Amino acid sequence: MSELLRVEGLKIAVEGKEILKGLDLTVRTGEIHVIMGSNGAGKSTLFNAVMGNPNYVVTAGHIFFEGKDITAEPVNERAKDGIFMAFQAPIAVQGISVENFIRNAKGTITGETQRIMPFRKKLHKQMDALSMNRSYAQRYVNDGFSGGERKKAEILQMCMLEPKLTMLDEIDSGLDVDAVRIVSETVAQYHNAENSILVITHHSEILQKLKPDFVHILIDGRIVKTGDASLIKEIEANGYDAYKTKAK
Ligand code: ADP
Ligand code: MG
Ligand code: MG
Repeated sequence: MSELLRVEGLKIAVEGKEILKGLDLTVRTGEIHVIMGSNGAGKSTLFNAVMGNPNYVVTAGHIFFEGKDITAEPVNERAKDGIFMAFQAPIAVQGISVENFIRNAKGTITGETQRIMPFRKKLHKQMDALSMNRSYAQRYVNDGFSGGERKKAEILQMCMLEPKLTMLDEIDSGLDVDAVRIVSETVAQYHNAENSILVITHHSEILQKLKPDFVHILIDGRIVKTGDASLIKEIEANGYDAYKTKAK
């Protein structure tokens, strides 16, 4: 398996405050990694930094994608490279429909104009699989959507954009049991030997479907422990206290 993402000694400041304090992480093609850690540890910050959100300032270290140093690349270039992030709290975008939003993004990423009818056919098929009413394709992005519908719209984007690296930030939070199952199954179906998935979650249900290769514990801006899926059970039983003490 080849290396897809490598994060090296990454330090990130947000509004002048250091949040990531020298983080290392390597993800190979075909792998699923889980990032665990208590609230405020820096998990979403890591995803935002890899995506290239300009509010997250790199003060040290590097991010490599398929061997290329992307540390200074803007977010749209990273999307073209094949990086995608599903937001913890997706926001509404007025004035552009779900269908046009995703079709434009797909056109930009692939460099190929997406013809309306074939694109719509594929979109509808994917919406059916997610149990999303097709009428949502014509609504403004996330406008008036429930929390669960927003999360499904993020997964719809993933399915249509077909990224090499997908980062799912608490995709399973705020969903009812049926939606958790549908979202988990859709991500599991999307995953194959050619793509990689990074997951932030506080629930284990999604991980029964996704079967992580590695689990990382992020405490105070650093990964303090990496293990296999058995780490999830350990954390569910004992919490993060032992790791927090060690980190200090
Ligand atoms: P986690 O996802 O692990 O709960 P975050 O990465 O969201 O943690 O946040 C880590 C720390 O960085 C927190 O103290 C949070 O307040 C701060 N932080 C993150 N993003 C921002 C932001 N956009 N503006 C201000 N502070 C932020
Ligand atoms: Mg795998
Ligand atoms: Mg977060």
